[in-house]
Amino acid sequence: MRLSDLHTGQSGHIIKVLGHGGFRRRIMEMGFVRGRRVEVILNAPLKDPIKYGLMGYEVSLRRSEAAMIEVEVEGGPRSREVNDRNAEAGYNDCADGECETAPRTAEGLVGRERQIEIALVGNPNSGKSSLYNALSGSHEHVGNYSGVTVEGKRGAFSFRGYEFIVYDLPGTYALSPYSPEELYVRRHLTERIPDVIVNVAAASNLERNLYLTTELIDIAQEMVMALNMYDELEQSGATLDVEALETLTGVPIVPVVARDGRGLDELLQTVIDIYEHRCTRSRHVHINYGVAIEDALGKLRETMAVDFGHFPKHFSRRYLMLKFLEGDDYVERMLAEVCPHYGEWTPLRDELVARVEKELGEDIATAVTGEKYGFVAGALRETLTPGRADQISTTAAIDAIVTHKLWGFPVFFLLMWLMFEATFKLGQYPMGWIEGGVEWIGGLVGGIVPAGALHDLLVDGIIGGVGSVIVFLPNILILFLCISFMEDSGYMARAAFIMDKVMHRIGLHGKSFIPLVMGFGCNVPGIMAARAIESRSSRIITVLISPFISCSARLPIYIMLTAAFFPSHASLVLISIYVTGIVMAALTALLLRRTMFKRDDTPFVMELPPYRLPTLRTVARHMWGKGRQYLRKMGGVILVASIAVWLLSYYPRPSVGMTAAQQSEQSWLGRVGRFVEPAMRPIGIPWKGTVALVAGVGAKEVTVSTLGVLYSAETKADTKTKTDAEPAADGASIESGIDVDVDVDVEAKAEAGAGAAIGAGTTMSDWTPLGALSFMIFALLYFPCLAALAAIRKEAGGMRWVALSVVYNTLVAWVVAFAIHAIGGLFV
Ligand code: GDP
Ligand code: MG
Repeated sequence: MRLSDLHTGQSGHIIKVLGHGGFRRRIMEMGFVRGRRVEVILNAPLKDPIKYGLMGYEVSLRRSEAAMIEVEVEGGPRSREVNDRNAEAGYNDCADGECETAPRTAEGLVGRERQIEIALVGNPNSGKSSLYNALSGSHEHVGNYSGVTVEGKRGAFSFRGYEFIVYDLPGTYALSPYSPEELYVRRHLTERIPDVIVNVAAASNLERNLYLTTELIDIAQEMVMALNMYDELEQSGATLDVEALETLTGVPIVPVVARDGRGLDELLQTVIDIYEHRCTRSRHVHINYGVAIEDALGKLRETMAVDFGHFPKHFSRRYLMLKFLEGDDYVERMLAEVCPHYGEWTPLRDELVARVEKELGEDIATAVTGEKYGFVAGALRETLTPGRADQISTTAAIDAIVTHKLWGFPVFFLLMWLMFEATFKLGQYPMGWIEGGVEWIGGLVGGIVPAGALHDLLVDGIIGGVGSVIVFLPNILILFLCISFMEDSGYMARAAFIMDKVMHRIGLHGKSFIPLVMGFGCNVPGIMAARAIESRSSRIITVLISPFISCSARLPIYIMLTAAFFPSHASLVLISIYVTGIVMAALTALLLRRTMFKRDDTPFVMELPPYRLPTLRTVARHMWGKGRQYLRKMGGVILVASIAVWLLSYYPRPSVGMTAAQQSEQSWLGRVGRFVEPAMRPIGIPWKGTVALVAGVGAKEVTVSTLGVLYSAETKADTKTKTDAEPAADGASIESGIDVDVDVDVEAKAEAGAGAAIGAGTTMSDWTPLGALSFMIFALLYFPCLAALAAIRKEAGGMRWVALSVVYNTLVAWVVAFAIHAIGGLFV
């Protein structure tokens, strides 16, 4: 029977995991091993994925993945038997010193004896980042959601006369090189060789956390365990005999609470003791892998001993031999490089593997994982007295609502709606103040600097440009406050859980949903949020389709044009535009999945952490961190872009007597617009529209202000050159950009956006309604704004994605706008 055949509430024991490669490995490391009991907790509202409970934590699998796990319904005789055998697995002390690993090289130590380098290694959500922050005083992102830390972070601090360097590494379940995070961690341990590894283990879920500990025991580098979330263990009423666990594992253990800093001094003192070789609690043990495997290791040892001298020193020989036996290609490559006799070993290994697998009736990887979990189960049986399952039941109660088959989606959409309301409605107040402030500064500077190019550059280009970025800050902060709250409480994982099936249709993961939703506010934080997606291909696809999600900066364009050309069908047109964006995003995702990213590199398997009440401090830190990032990185880009657009629209200077429209036309920007115009004629966009689109490349809100300038000038018969010949990207972009409220009354909007007046179509005489429609579609889909491109470059990793994005999106925009224009032309 397969796990996917079990019904909600049923449970079974695992017989084996089918399939191969990364998925199988990952799932076994997460505790899906022979004999283990799994319970079906609930189905997502769309019946897929499914939430399972095992070893006291919750994990979601897709139905197709659960179908790869063979189980036996509760109480079968076979499962009992294996289960018991597992728990008997024991350990031996390491007697022959074969597991000694060399410390960091001698040269590396000179002059830095007072410096200790530590690396935080632990499961996702074990609190590594919290510990890192507590130790180093940093503000790294903490979240109750796996995959939040994607790259290593380095921090430094001093303690009792030592300088500490600490690395916060991505979360891993094991050290096998099947996922990018595991590879990253393993590489860190081989290349940097920390003086002391700090294994961060969550006390609230010891069984799975200790699995990674067994891997670390195997490599035999110096280590201490930070038994984090000790508060949760205490609250649950469980008791743990820490000393006994120390004896059984040979690893010094220090209970800590990273969130409020409890136990940190003791942890660091233990690190110092280990570093100074004064720690009596650390001892190396061998996990016993059972007779068959131990025999095979013995045979390998005899043969491989000739080259022991050549073995890499950072991992124990026993570990390297075990991995060689398992056929770990990373270790194979490592040994092949340095061992002269390597070539002779492979046949022997293959023979041993065949023999062992025949004897055990399962493959080596499964057997090793099973024995490791057996070791953990045995150790916990002697040391842990479970308490009440309070946290689990609170979590279950919340989940009963938020992942309910009827209520799940309404609750989700309600929360999304609240998030947007808060972001844009609440954000309007501080926005108003900032806007006022910017205007005041503009006025002040404008009063001091004499009229002329410098004056205009300062006031319109720089203050206007920077101002147009700063006004969005409250939105960004509120948006991230909400998101941080959702992440840290654990709700984000549920949102990904219920959305997975829908997202799977377009080849993505449930986790891609949140970044896309955020994109409706602003694509930039949306793209940045894609960072939490573990799978590289899904992450890149999510990043690339994000710009199709219509952000709030594009809304003023629609509002202005629908008011002018479709006054009686405004909402219908608006909705169709948004839907077009979503459809193009979905189609593009499918296309990318079919062509550039054929295979998804990580399985869906996702842990659903218990709900935790976020602390004010972490939420605030996160919010501020994002705000700063926004200001620094994106602000820089927008600033530069605004100045560039300003320059292009300001020069060459018009001759006296020109109207604003003429001025715009003869500016560099106007010339570019003129140049591009033939390409835009087939889609019904007149040259002024083209100029506006070209100006909007920097930031889409500039499109509206440009149109405003061009047409307001045309309307006024008595144009006086000087004042009206405002450059295209004048301060109006501030107003147009921030008016993102959907139900603002249309006239006010048209006024704010277009400056003087777009008198309901009358003055835009060179437009047709159809042209306006294709203009809006084009504006929606084309060239992502520069801030978005900067974010794409950072998150997808490389200029080629930026280039792809620019070319592809503009092409798509043209094709879709053309189609609409051509098809629409048949009816009008
Ligand atoms: P990481 O994925 O290992 O980096 O874990 P994080 O540092 O992001 O923390 C995961 C979650 O556990 C967050 O919600 C933290 O607030 C929470 N957390 C971290 N340390 C503790 C602790 O000592 N006690 C409790 N109760 N929660 C903690
Ligand atoms: Mg982290």
